[in-house]
Amino acid sequence: MSYEMSNILFEKAKTLMPGGVNSPVRAFKSVGTNPIFIKKGFGSHIEDVDGNTYIDYVLSWGPLILGHCNPRIVNALKNQLESGTSFGACTEIEIKLAEKIKEAVPSVEIIRMVNSGTEATMSAIRLARGYTKRNIIVKFEGCYHGHSDSLLIKAGSGALTFGTPDSKGVTSETAKNTIIARYNDSDLIVEIFKKYGEDIAAVIVEPIAGNMGTVPPKEGFLKTLRKVTESYGSLLIFDEVMTGFRVSYTCAQGLYNINPDITTFGKIIGGGLPVGAYGGRKDIMRMISPDGPVYQAGTLSGNPLAMVAGYETLNALSEDPSIYNELDKKADRLCMGLYESMRQNGIKVEINRVGTMMCMFFTDGNVHDFETATKSNTDLFAKYFKAMLKRGIYLPPSQFETFFLSTAHTNEDIDRTIEASFEAAREISA
Ligand code: PMP
Repeated sequence: MSYEMSNILFEKAKTLMPGGVNSPVRAFKSVGTNPIFIKKGFGSHIEDVDGNTYIDYVLSWGPLILGHCNPRIVNALKNQLESGTSFGACTEIEIKLAEKIKEAVPSVEIIRMVNSGTEATMSAIRLARGYTKRNIIVKFEGCYHGHSDSLLIKAGSGALTFGTPDSKGVTSETAKNTIIARYNDSDLIVEIFKKYGEDIAAVIVEPIAGNMGTVPPKEGFLKTLRKVTESYGSLLIFDEVMTGFRVSYTCAQGLYNINPDITTFGKIIGGGLPVGAYGGRKDIMRMISPDGPVYQAGTLSGNPLAMVAGYETLNALSEDPSIYNELDKKADRLCMGLYESMRQNGIKVEINRVGTMMCMFFTDGNVHDFETATKSNTDLFAKYFKAMLKRGIYLPPSQFETFFLSTAHTNEDIDRTIEASFEAAREISA
């Protein structure tokens, strides 16, 4: 496989953009190789600028649950394009998508569209603070909620501490209002609430963590969050930017039967176009401007192209009741095969999966939080990533990312991937 054109473009990109990219993981830094530049996508596949094709398990980091260039989405977009790309004014399609989401997710009574997951979580935090008139938020180590200041905080020394900024430019004053807790640790969250509960505006959580690899919630964890926030008058925010319409049509909250106060969305509800949204209980959402005193706005919010792509995606997902079952079966086939490829070559891995969110950790033990996730052998992952890439399999270029499937992935794609994984396992264990 030649990467000549990709390498030329990357050299040029580096002279124009930080690290040559518009979002850090795209630079492939943690796998120690140059990124590929993508020319086009079709179904379950992408093609790079050198003409190499790959089975795509990144799917734009989750949005493309119907695969690339699904004809239904493409047609809907073409129709919308001919009527205009943006008005910054009211359109009917915003109502249609809002209704569609509300139908699927009963905890969402009122919803506001924004342009990214980051905007959604940032606005949800502001809303929670405005509603409760409290300052502190609790987030979990290893959960990512976009890059707004108060969420870009990492754990200090040990849990039950206020965090420290995770990025230069985030002030320690901001970090002081964010408490970092341990994912899946119900006892700790109860402790935190005993100590600070009266001042906590909200707990924000990925109901299935997808940004430290995939880490499902332990039995009872989300229930504890629901209970403790309720009893202290704090809000529970489910960040379903990744899980929303990915793990089931009723999202993670439907899967685990927990109603949060606010939910954030992104990815799938935009069908591959830039989108985000936050919604929840009516009395809380009525605090948002122009109904209430919490300000939030956007020139391109509710953009008709994004709304159309999202609406058609949700239509496709809701019309065929077997879709999620089929996806689940395919994901199971894939994970079983990947596991075997490692086991037969003496490589210890732990695979976590919920529906079509999955991750293969190069580690020996159970992965249930940030600490256990980071025990993974990232050097071995990097070798595996490269061995798969050269065999035409495009995995997320980091150990701590989730990979996805789309309805366009066939059993043939999966079997080819497993075959490649056997070869890759032999190569990296040699
Ligand atoms: N929340 C979660 C759970 C995410 O996975 C992401 C992005 N991967 C975000 C928020 C931020 O979304 P965006 O990149 O669209 O700003």
